[in-house]
Amino acid sequence: RIHAAGDIGCYTLGAVAPLSVIDTTVCMGSSISSLHGMEKAKGKDYIKNWVAVIGDSTFMHTGINSLMNMVYNKGTGTVMILDNSITAMTGHQDHAATGKTLKGEETYAVNIAKLCEAVGVKHVYEVNVFDTALLEKTVKEAVAMEEIVVIIAKAPCALLDKSPITKQYRIDSAACKRCGMCMKPGCPAITKTEDGTIVINDTMCNGCGLCETMCRFGAINMVKLR
Ligand code: SF4
Ligand code: SF4
Repeated sequence: RIHAAGDIGCYTLGAVAPLSVIDTTVCMGSSISSLHGMEKAKGKDYIKNWVAVIGDSTFMHTGINSLMNMVYNKGTGTVMILDNSITAMTGHQDHAATGKTLKGEETYAVNIAKLCEAVGVKHVYEVNVFDTALLEKTVKEAVAMEEIVVIIAKAPCALLDKSPITKQYRIDSAACKRCGMCMKPGCPAITKTEDGTIVINDTMCNGCGLCETMCRFGAINMVKLR
């Protein structure tokens, strides 16, 4: 299991069940410095099943300075920047990497990958989070390296797109093996009922299709709405 030094953002909620994927949260920007501190205190091998997890907004706010110190102090470790192109947790405020001011005016957008390279990180990867196979492979390779690796996991916040939903997904209960794989990404639309049936709440599904890619049994089907 990979452990996560977490930070402050919507992903912090992943600390609680059913996800239970965030192991530490101290304050804004602390994910990277916590990982760095663990490496210095316990050694490179200790953090080989750890990653630092920080959102794009928090990274721009106060994560970059921790990354600079990681490079400066000759650290190693994997940093995942969860880039959903907004400050989601506090209500969709823009930030220095979104290309818009808080008033919605167009402005210069900092390129996060180039920023990481500019402070001295040699291994920076940008991965679409919907490509779960590539993301998993990238994380496994990164934690095995004795280097600083930054993985920018990209996909806009689902709530940014205000256009009408044109498709959704449904679970075929006859084909479902109740393996639970579709629940792993933590989509709030997917729940397990008391009798163990897995269901998709059609008032919450935005049709992203991620759950369908997780199901090896073809039990999740797309339904066109318009
Ligand atoms: S991944 Fe497929 S088979 Fe497994 S619980 Fe979900 S719908 Fe059912
Ligand atoms: S299609 Fe996307 S939003 Fe809908 S249930 Fe699956 S993962 Fe959730």
